[in-house]
Amino acid sequence: MAVDYHLHTYRCGHARGRMADYVRIARERGLREIGFADHIPIYFHAPEQRPSGLAMADEELPEYVAEVLALRADNPDLPIRLGIEADYIPGREPQLAVLLERHPFDYVLGSIHYLDGWGFDNPDFLDGYRGRDADVLYHRYFELLQAAARSGLFDSLAHPDLLKKFGCRPRSDITPLYRKTAAVIAAAGICIEVNTAGLWAPVGEIYPHPIFLRFCCGFGVPVTLGSDAHAPERVGSGLPEAIQLLKQAGYREIATFQRRRRTLIPLE
Ligand SMILES: [Zn+2]
Ligand SMILES: [Zn+2]
Repeated sequence: MAVDYHLHTYRCGHARGRMADYVRIARERGLREIGFADHIPIYFHAPEQRPSGLAMADEELPEYVAEVLALRADNPDLPIRLGIEADYIPGREPQLAVLLERHPFDYVLGSIHYLDGWGFDNPDFLDGYRGRDADVLYHRYFELLQAAARSGLFDSLAHPDLLKKFGCRPRSDITPLYRKTAAVIAAAGICIEVNTAGLWAPVGEIYPHPIFLRFCCGFGVPVTLGSDAHAPERVGSGLPEAIQLLKQAGYREIATFQRRRRTLIPLE
């Protein structure tokens, strides 16, 4: 009876399937609660400068909200939350805050998908790894993750070591960076997400790294759970592995949200 708080929709341009089918699969797999968290419009670029296929358009955001609320009304026995996945871009916090105020979100996932303008998780930009030092990238990534935590904009930090997606690994021991970042997130009072999509990425691992997860547990950082499904058949996938990883890290509870208020529930 798991919870999946990271479901996308066709509106982002790189996911597929009807939203009702995501709900149907969630039922078939016995999930106790789900949340859609599709990519927020690329608010940090002017509309005419936005690349296609990465996120919904401005005018689709109200439609997305309305469709999640309609699915909720149609499924009174399955809690369906209204989430959103929002990019953290330093310096653009006020613009994002305005956008988040406009809709009755249950929770906001904060994501680092860009390192100083480079979309490092996009398979079209793999060239960017060439000539860049992995340790420098890791330090910049976690610096941004800490800034995202401190921004006060987010309830949970999505896939919090996404930098490993294509196999980029730190050269040196970054245990102190994991520890410091976990402490900053704990002080901010927000969650991290355990995200199973890495199992199907080249890295073949859940996000985040077990050592980072253990520090988070030690500092009392709660977790949300998500598959990052971009197709209906992916809903709930990998969650048993994620639950096992959480237990090994010391977790006994996961976080759920309603109107940005957190409730912890037993892991199983
Ligand atoms: Zn996506
Ligand atoms: Zn993401």
